[in-house]
Parts: sequence; structure tokens; C-alpha cells
Amino acid sequence: MIFRGVRGSIPTPVSAEQMQEKLAKALELATPEDLKDAASRQAFIDGLPMEIRACFGGNSSCVQVQAGEEMLIFDAGTGIRPLGLELMQCQFGKGQGRGHIFFSHTHWDHIQGFPFFVPLYVKGNHFTLNFPLANLHERLQGQQFHEFFPVPFEAYSASLEFTDLKDKCEIRIGDVRITWKEMYHPDKSFSYRVEYGGKSVIYATDAEYQNLSPEELKPNIDFFQDADLLIFDSMYTFGEGLEKRDWGHSSTFIGVDLAVDANVKQIAFYHHEPTYSDFKLVDILKQTEKYIKPIAPDSNLNMFLAYEGLTVDLMQDGSQG
Ligand SMILES: [Zn+2]
Ligand SMILES: [Zn+2]
Repeated sequence: MIFRGVRGSIPTPVSAEQMQEKLAKALELATPEDLKDAASRQAFIDGLPMEIRACFGGNSSCVQVQAGEEMLIFDAGTGIRPLGLELMQCQFGKGQGRGHIFFSHTHWDHIQGFPFFVPLYVKGNHFTLNFPLANLHERLQGQQFHEFFPVPFEAYSASLEFTDLKDKCEIRIGDVRITWKEMYHPDKSFSYRVEYGGKSVIYATDAEYQNLSPEELKPNIDFFQDADLLIFDSMYTFGEGLEKRDWGHSSTFIGVDLAVDANVKQIAFYHHEPTYSDFKLVDILKQTEKYIKPIAPDSNLNMFLAYEGLTVDLMQDGSQG
């Protein structure tokens, strides 16, 4: 699977101040030897930590899961735009592509990239649009009323098939099994669990866990049970999450609590708060690594920050590249 957009709430370009902070930190670390020629400079850049040499990314929610022949996309935040451009280089550019888009919910940051997903404008491509509520078509159409967007929803040339998941509890696409669960979020959201080839990935964004009693958490733990990868809405620090009760988001601390209880192998922190810098995200990850030690000293849970372009290959023991 590949993270295509990892920012929450609103697309967030890196500011000039943040760029300068990265540059200043890089220059602090450089030695004359590092700067001597093009090769040494490149090696120096390659050796810098992610938060200095690059960016976690400003595009909003989108995750691509390739399960054998089937391509699944979770959410159509602005991260779906660069994904679409990449897909145009293969069969989607020839009108021979097939994909399945699942929506967690239809807040702006999860649908805004949809009209910019170029494969939708190529005749011959086919997409299923999946959502557990009946009115996805109206919701997506509404985003493209002419007051809000110049191109109407009806302008797409690809064939679109709406799949209402409402009265089902699972669907199968080839050998892929997908289940879902309603989550607590303003106007509700849905998490998805994808199982294929003995591996499982859970896409659980935009969800708040208000009541942390074992009884209340049990349905979530059951849904997350034994997952190879849990993609988790950890928008706020634990403290800010307490202040923003009812805003519909969670934190890394609650994520690792749930992951440990559900015997999850890896957790990806996702839907990053737009005001948090890359340095702050790394700091939150370090605090979370400290937090887990006393509560689960024997845990082998692997935790990491999702960033744009990060690929996790679950068929190769979850290695990242
Ligand atoms: Zn969101
Ligand atoms: Zn939302």
C-alpha cells in the first residue's frame, strides 16, 4: 500500500519559515567533507532524517492499496490528484483501468481531490464508488454544483458504479475481502478492513474514541484484531485531543493502546494536524515510543508516521520503502 495524502482537515503546503528551519538544521549538521562535491552533498542529503531532508506531505487523505490485480483507493482527498497523474502512465491513460474507491466519509478533506483525479475523464476506465450510506452520488454531485466547481459531476467519461454497502456486512472483490465499521465522528465515518493473501490492513481515519472503558472500546478492538497494519487517525496530541472533545479525532497514545490490545503488528499515524510541523510530528512519535514502554514492555508493535509516497509491502513482511 502507498500513502498518497496524509494531512488532516485541509491541504497544507510547507511554509517558507518551515523550509528555512529545515535548511538551517541541515547546514548545522554539514561538515566541509559533506560539501566537497556533488556526490558527497547528495550522500549527506540522503543521510539526513526525513523531517530535515523532506516533508511528511501536505495533501489530504488518500491511501492506495494494491491487492493482487485489484487497486483499492481509500478516500479522495487531494492526495488522489498526484495518484491519478501517475495512473495515467499505465492502463488508466489508455482507458483500460479498473479501480475501487472507498470513502470513509464526505468531509471536504476526503473528497476534494475527486474532480482532479484525471483517470475519471478517460473513457473506458471503470471505477466502483463504495460507501455505507445510500446518498454518496448526491454528496459528490453537490461538491460539483457550478457555484463550487466549474465541471459538473456528469462530465466524467469513465464509467462509475455506485456500490451501496448499507445492508451488507462485507464485500469481496476478486480474492479481496472488505469489511467496515461505523466510527464516532461528526456526521459519522467508516473504517475499512481489507484482507488479502492472509494479510490485513485497516484504514481507520477520522474517528474519536470518547469513552476509553474496555467495554466501549471492545467493538473497535475486535475490528482491529491481529491486523498487520492499522492506519490510525492520530490528529492531535493526547492533551489537545482532550481539549477538542467532540471534534472527532484521536491521538497516538490512544492508537497504541488500541493497537496493543488488538495485537496489531504495525500502526501508521495518519491525518496529521495542519498546524503541526514535521519536527512536532517527530516529537509526538518519540513521546509515543516512551509512552508505550511502561504500559506494554514486551510489545513488538512497530509505529511510524505516515508520509506521502511511503510504501508498505505487507506481502514482504511489512517492509517499508
Ligand atoms: Zn478528515
Ligand atoms: Zn472528518
